[in-house]
Amino acid sequence: MEPLLQVKNLKKYFPTKSGMLHAVDNVSFTIEQGKTLGVVGESGCGKSTLGRVVLHLLPATSGEILFDGKDISNPSKAELHDLRRNMQMVFQDPYSSINPRQSVAEIIGEPLKVYKICKTKEEYDARVKQLMEIVGLPERYEHSYPHELDGGRRQRIGIGRALALQPKFIVCDEPVSALDVSIQAQILNLMMDLQDEMNLTYIFVTHDLSVVKHISDDIMVMYLGVVVEKSSAKELFSRQLHPYTKALLSAIPRAKIGERKNRILLKGELTSPIEPPKACRFAPRCPYAKEKCFSQEPVLEEILPEHFVCCHYVREINQL
Ligand code: SF4
Repeated sequence: MEPLLQVKNLKKYFPTKSGMLHAVDNVSFTIEQGKTLGVVGESGCGKSTLGRVVLHLLPATSGEILFDGKDISNPSKAELHDLRRNMQMVFQDPYSSINPRQSVAEIIGEPLKVYKICKTKEEYDARVKQLMEIVGLPERYEHSYPHELDGGRRQRIGIGRALALQPKFIVCDEPVSALDVSIQAQILNLMMDLQDEMNLTYIFVTHDLSVVKHISDDIMVMYLGVVVEKSSAKELFSRQLHPYTKALLSAIPRAKIGERKNRILLKGELTSPIEPPKACRFAPRCPYAKEKCFSQEPVLEEILPEHFVCCHYVREINQL
């Protein structure tokens, strides 16, 4: 099956006074239609920048992006306009991406107007009503303003707006991070239901591994712009091979009372993302680091079937 999205050696560097900041460095992955790729890592690891570069909200420094078999690495303005119909984004704080002076119905219906989707006012009203129903917003909120709603309902507006053009692919950037745990579950369930019904493909960006556990088919762990581990979600949650992923997973609270938790606390300085050295970027914080880690950059290698890790000593550490 042809993947819906193929990303090859994508780089995004930002110029700074002290040199180039390597926000995304040589990242490659594929996603099949109807699947979810969870992208996890601490803040500043490049995961949100990656989502924005894939959507062309930020220009790539280099690399290739193929969508539906078509090279969209350097789209023209007209191509980009067409792409927006198929590629959408749900933001962490929908408030920052919507006009607070518009009502719920106006926000959700705006893309329909921009893309002239509906021929008549009746068709437009019916579609907005349908979108509100799809995302679980009762009709009585039609004329409400975002500030009058709670965080969960505001996020439903963001999802409704992203769905207005019936896209194939959505980048969800920390969509539940600002919500209470009970509301998080509602929004995640809504997103999974919508995926089943509409065969949607997601990139789900989050700093919280427990959030992506149920929604992701595959997971990619990023550290300072590079991918350090990538596998199916099932495999990653049963067996973490990279020292950084082990530490990330150890931080997830356990559900069972009394279950022992051996949290791995990372010490040491963060490597600067500005002109990073040709070395393992995790080395200053890695409990297994040796001399080679500070002088040679490891590459992402398939260590077990479909399980990729970027570490010189992964076999030794995991006794493989
Ligand atoms: Fe740790 Fe070295 Fe592996 Fe980097 S390459 S994760 S420093 S053991």
